[in-house]
Amino acid sequence: MTNKNLIEGNTGLWEVVIGLEVHAQIATKAKLFSRSGTKFGAEPNTQVSFVDAGMPGMLPVINQECVNQAIKTSLGLNGTVNMHSCFDRKNYFYADLPTGYQITQHHRPIMTEGYLDIELNSDTADTKRIRLNRLHIEQDAGKSIHDLSPEKSYIDLNRAGIGLMEIVSEPDLRSASEAMSFVKKLRSMLRYMGTCDGDMEKGQLRADVNVSVHKPDTPLGTRAEVKNINSVRFIGMAIEHEIERQINLLEGGGEVNQETRLFDPNTGCTRSMRSKEDAHDYRYFPEPDLPPLLLTQERIDTLKNALPELPDAKKSRFMTDYQLSPYDAGVLVSEQETAAFYEEALEELKQKDAKSTKLLVNWLTGELFGALNRDGKTLDDMPVTARQLAQLVNLIVDDTISGKIAKDVFVKMWETGKDPEILVDELGLRQITDTSAIEVIIDEVVAANTDKVDEYKSGKEKLFGFFVGQVMKASQGKANPGTVNQLLKKKLS
Ligand code: ADP
Ligand code: MG
Repeated sequence: MTNKNLIEGNTGLWEVVIGLEVHAQIATKAKLFSRSGTKFGAEPNTQVSFVDAGMPGMLPVINQECVNQAIKTSLGLNGTVNMHSCFDRKNYFYADLPTGYQITQHHRPIMTEGYLDIELNSDTADTKRIRLNRLHIEQDAGKSIHDLSPEKSYIDLNRAGIGLMEIVSEPDLRSASEAMSFVKKLRSMLRYMGTCDGDMEKGQLRADVNVSVHKPDTPLGTRAEVKNINSVRFIGMAIEHEIERQINLLEGGGEVNQETRLFDPNTGCTRSMRSKEDAHDYRYFPEPDLPPLLLTQERIDTLKNALPELPDAKKSRFMTDYQLSPYDAGVLVSEQETAAFYEEALEELKQKDAKSTKLLVNWLTGELFGALNRDGKTLDDMPVTARQLAQLVNLIVDDTISGKIAKDVFVKMWETGKDPEILVDELGLRQITDTSAIEVIIDEVVAANTDKVDEYKSGKEKLFGFFVGQVMKASQGKANPGTVNQLLKKKLS
């Protein structure tokens, strides 16, 4: 397959290779091995049990709800769910890890060999399949806080022991934009499945980004890993910076070190955190306090049957059933709530031809999203219902009002929450379609502009637009533009 993302350097073309390791916080009420809560923003150290604090003699008990969430996610990511997986201890010393080890699925993860299709171009249905190496379950560490005091560090163990799914891609991504699409698509799918809330600002989704460059048709280059990035935009920035850094280094005769780096959002640069030489020896060994995780086919099937329709299936259904473009369908399905709102509105839409379904998309993603953004509201916390939005579109489609007038009606709907039909009557906005009424207005405009009529008739055809404008203005925008055009042509010919 040819790669259109090749980058021109001083020594020829370079290919970029990227693999992601995404940490997704499992959406559950309790932690992975204890019954402590997982609420974000709680007072420090208020959601910590003896297990989370690593007290001697405390034993972990697996939270089956976390396992169910991981199984669902694995199925949604088209992976093989392993009936037999295990937990291992990953040993390292850090102040926010009171046990001195993290429990993770190193040797036998719960999922292997999945995939995710990313969109290559929002205007077409072109996708690219990104293979997933694995999904495994592990626990999160606590949080060290260094910036509260110049001489002290603080530890908050609220996060310690929260369940994570680590999702590891194969090195199939070829640009920053593909990597960003990957994370956005993954986040959207996790939210559909309800297995991770995906709020990156709260650290619920964070990615380690592995980047290397090489000349096409040569072995892969040495990768650098940029750790723990918590925004899609920063992921893109970190990759762009790594590409430039590595190409400059290689073209200057240097070598890329296999190392772990950190991204600094303030400078847009990455810097070395630790090199491979001082890489950790984690001394992995099987976790003696937990039995192997054994699943039954029945359990997997039950969870599979409970999966919602996922974005890819929904998108192609929207394209087929509602005759929408790939772009429009993509925008609607990116969030489940938006897709549901659209389908609820569709029920109220009188005509379901391509023109009307598209008009409804435009009103949803244009006026409505605009108003939501402006007022900082969401679809379930705003004055206009899905049905009312469809009623407004109905009024445009059946020529009761023009699209222009509809914008004014929408503003009033937003202010009052009233039905569009009622507002159109209250405000006297019904479109004038009655030809005799429009003819009266045309006669007035023509009479008031005899000089322009003469110019028009002697060949200045551009003036036609002027007449249309005058008639629309005289009717306060209410004359049906199609009828105005038709009648004016007749009158002026
Ligand atoms: P390790 O076990 O050392 O962490 P893995 O093989 O698990 O290495 O790979 C970790 C991540 O690095 C994966 O997402 C993988 O796709 C990615 N990766 C591996 N090799 C490369 C490479 N040459 N360039 C970029 N990414 C790579
Ligand atoms: Mg790894």
